[in-house]
Amino acid sequence: MSKKLKEKAAERKKRIHSLRSLRTAYTLLVLVILLSAGIITAGFYILLYSLNFIPSAALTPLILPIIVIISCMIIGTVLAGFVGKLFINPLRRLIAANEEIRQGNFKVRLSGQNVIGELDNLMRSFNSMADELEATELFRNDFINSFSHEFKTPIVSIRGFARQLQRDNEQHSLTDEQRKEYTDIIAYESDRLARLSSNILTLIKFENQQIVTDKTQFYLDEQIRRTVLLLEKQWTARDISIELELDEIIYNFNEEMLAQMWLNLIGNAIKFSHKGGTVLVRCRKKQDFICVDITDSGEGMNEETIHRIFDKFYQSDTSHKSEGNGLGLAIVKRIAELANAELSVKSEIGKGSTFSVKLPPVRD
Ligand code: ADP
Repeated sequence: MSKKLKEKAAERKKRIHSLRSLRTAYTLLVLVILLSAGIITAGFYILLYSLNFIPSAALTPLILPIIVIISCMIIGTVLAGFVGKLFINPLRRLIAANEEIRQGNFKVRLSGQNVIGELDNLMRSFNSMADELEATELFRNDFINSFSHEFKTPIVSIRGFARQLQRDNEQHSLTDEQRKEYTDIIAYESDRLARLSSNILTLIKFENQQIVTDKTQFYLDEQIRRTVLLLEKQWTARDISIELELDEIIYNFNEEMLAQMWLNLIGNAIKFSHKGGTVLVRCRKKQDFICVDITDSGEGMNEETIHRIFDKFYQSDTSHKSEGNGLGLAIVKRIAELANAELSVKSEIGKGSTFSVKLPPVRD
C-alpha cells in the first residue's frame, strides 16, 4: 500500500473513532430527536391544514412554532454538546484510570470533583477497588519476599557448610569439633527447610479448601491430651508443667485439621514460655459454644505484635532465633475460619498470653 493510501486510511480511522466517541454520539442523538420532533410537528400542522382543520389564515401562526422549533434545535444541540462534557469527561478519566490499573499501576485514584449522581458512585467504587488491589499487591510482594528469604537463608547456609566439609576432604583443615558443628548446622537447617515446606503445603491446602471434608466424631478432650503427649519432649526439656482442665466433649469435625490447630497453639505456648513455667489448657462446654483456652506464663506480646501474629511469616523476634517460620498461627487462623470458630488473644508483656478458640456447638 502506498504511503498516501496508508495516511488516508489512518485519517478515516481517526474520523470514525471521533464519530464513535460518546460525546459526539450523544450530541448527534439529541440533534436527531429534536429534528424528528420538528418534522413531526410541522407535518402534523400541514396535515391539519390539508384536511381543512386549519383555515389558511391560521397558517401565519404556523411560522412561529417552526421558528421556535428550529431555535430549540440549535440551542438544544449546542447545550447538549456542553452538558455531554459532564458525563463524558468523567467516563474518559475512568477509562484512562482503568488502563493504568491494567498496566499494573495500582496507585491511580479518581477525584469526585465536578461529577454528578451515579458517576460519583462509580468513581468511589473505582477508588475502593484500586485500594483493594493495591493492598493485595503489597501483600503478595510481601509474601514473595518473605517466602524467598525464608527459603534462601537455610539453603545458603547448608551450601556454605557443605562446601567447607568438601574442602576438608582434600585439605584436612578442620578440627573434629568444627566438623561436628558444621554437620549439626546442616542437619538443623535441613529440618528447618522440611518444616517450612510442610507448613507452606498445609497452609496452601487449607486456604484452597472451602468445604471441610472427612468429618468424624471424636473426643475433643482426648485429642488435646494426645497433642500434649506428642509435645512431651519439648515441655520436659524445658521443665514446663502442663495443667489440663478438660470437660468430656464429643465433637464432629475433620479430626486431623483440628489436631493441627492444638499442636500449633500448645506448641507456641511451650515455645514462648520461660524455663520452669506453666501452660494451662482448658476446654469447657458452654450452652452455645465450646471454649478452648491455652494460657502460658511466658514472655507475652505487645499490642503491635498481637495485631500481626496471624500474618504469614510474621515473627516478633526478627532474628528468627526461635524455631519456627511464622506460619503456625496463619494455619490456625485458616482452620478457625473453616470451623466457623472465633479466635482471640489476650496477652501482657512479661506475664504471658491466652489464646481462646470458641468452637460452634455440635448439633445432635
Ligand atoms: P512461629 O511460632 O513459627 O514463629 P507462629 O505463626 O506460630 O510462628 O507465631 C508467630 C509469632 O507470634 C511468633 O513468632 C511469636 O512472636 C508470636 N507468638 C505466638 N504465640 C505466642 C505466645 N504464646 N507467646 C508469645 N508470643 C507468641
